Amino acid sequence: MSKDANNKQFVTEITPQGEDFSRWYIDVIKKADLMDYSPVRGCMVFKPDGYEIWEHIQQELDRRFKETGHRNAYFPLFIPESFFQKEKEHVEGFNPELPWVTEAAGEKLEERLAIRPTSETMIGHMYSKWIQSYRDLPVLINQWANVVRWEKRTLPFLRTSEFLWQEGHTAHETETEARAETMQMLDIYADFVENYLAIPIIKGQKTPSEKFAGAVDTYSIEAMMKDGRAVQAGTSHYMGTNFAEAFEIQYLSRDNTLEFAHTTSWGVSTRLIGSLIMVHGDDRGLVLPPKVAPTQVIMIPIGPPKTRDAVVGRTDELFRELKSAGIRVRVDDNPDVRPGWKFNEYEMRGVPVRLEIGPRDMENGVCVLVSRITGEKKIVQQANLVEEVQAMLEQVHQEMYDRAKQFMEDHFYSVNTLDEMKASMEEQRGFTLAGWCGSEACEDTVKQETGATSRNIPFEPGEKKTTCLVCGDAAKHTVLFARAY
Ligand code: AMP
Repeated sequence: MSKDANNKQFVTEITPQGEDFSRWYIDVIKKADLMDYSPVRGCMVFKPDGYEIWEHIQQELDRRFKETGHRNAYFPLFIPESFFQKEKEHVEGFNPELPWVTEAAGEKLEERLAIRPTSETMIGHMYSKWIQSYRDLPVLINQWANVVRWEKRTLPFLRTSEFLWQEGHTAHETETEARAETMQMLDIYADFVENYLAIPIIKGQKTPSEKFAGAVDTYSIEAMMKDGRAVQAGTSHYMGTNFAEAFEIQYLSRDNTLEFAHTTSWGVSTRLIGSLIMVHGDDRGLVLPPKVAPTQVIMIPIGPPKTRDAVVGRTDELFRELKSAGIRVRVDDNPDVRPGWKFNEYEMRGVPVRLEIGPRDMENGVCVLVSRITGEKKIVQQANLVEEVQAMLEQVHQEMYDRAKQFMEDHFYSVNTLDEMKASMEEQRGFTLAGWCGSEACEDTVKQETGATSRNIPFEPGEKKTTCLVCGDAAKHTVLFARAY
């Protein structure tokens, strides 16, 4: 943001990450034009570049959901109050965050309607009607929707009161099958986040106090932002028969007995956009993963006015080649703006690859590709442009992943006592592994004393802790702690 309070025209510079990471984040998302604040507290507007990132996330996840047998459906935004009362833990967990509709068309409603924070209750109600026999199972449904949780603290993309997400809801005959589904979806999320968003993650199980309200087990993927804080990037829940019992999702089994179905749910939200900004961005602005970048390649013709028409003409031909190969490419041939300004602008917007072409390049049948992440320049033959651009996009993705992974490894710690944890949280930013006895009181002490919460119990912690960091008793689990968004 401009340091000159009188200069209100535009954000002239971005606060360096090292000076104030939160300020940097807000500067970047505003300056890159991804979002705007709305007049409603905690609710943001997704501007076209921000929304398009979500569309690319949606398209790929949707493909993966369908590939694994799921289909999309849509359920209502409003949920009758009585539905929430049916599952005790669920209502306790979500009640503080629910907005209610009490009146419509000038009349008071007989029953208040909640705006959905998640749809287990509505979907549970519908599944009880649809599922009669084992032949009706499994039910594998996903919904793309908006949900509302009236959050006290909000931050664009990462924690908003209204957010966009997908919620998968499945019902199965057996616990084994439902647990397999829960893990399958966690794996899909992990693979997507690593291979599409270039964000390394830690997979694990939530402790009982952090699990979803009403779930038997919750699993998450956790990512490390550049300030060392964690973001829960996705969750997958095994509900057991809790919701089936509350909503009477019963089926006649193969043995002719009446059984409760085992259900799951799983979701990722527009929080993923905030995560990829905080994982990859730098002091020059956004760095967008090529697979979700609205513009993957920006073409900038350069050179003096007398060669301009010829260079722009050739740029247009190359543009069409790239576009027909499915690459998201744009040309900026605005003659009123200097190339140097454009270079900065598209770097700030995080465009993964810049293509420069000038009169001499034209003569030689080449052009220059520049990587956003490394700044590396590569002179390539125009004849192989599509392959060269595809290779560089792949290389940018890999470089982004490798850097993020290295950052996570460099900021990974391990402690044995609460004092060590306090020091770790004060002196360094990052994730810290510690042993935990399993008691909620010890988990709470860590939170109170250090500000770090348990993120998950990693499946592959790398080391096994033997004692609880708080009470010193035998450790039941090795837990990942961090301050989190
Ligand atoms: P949950 O239903 O609580 O398991 O959350 C499902 C997904 O939505 C997870 O990936 C959460 O990290 C994400 N999420 C939860 N609350 C918010 C919020 N207020 N804003 C954006 N994303 C959220």
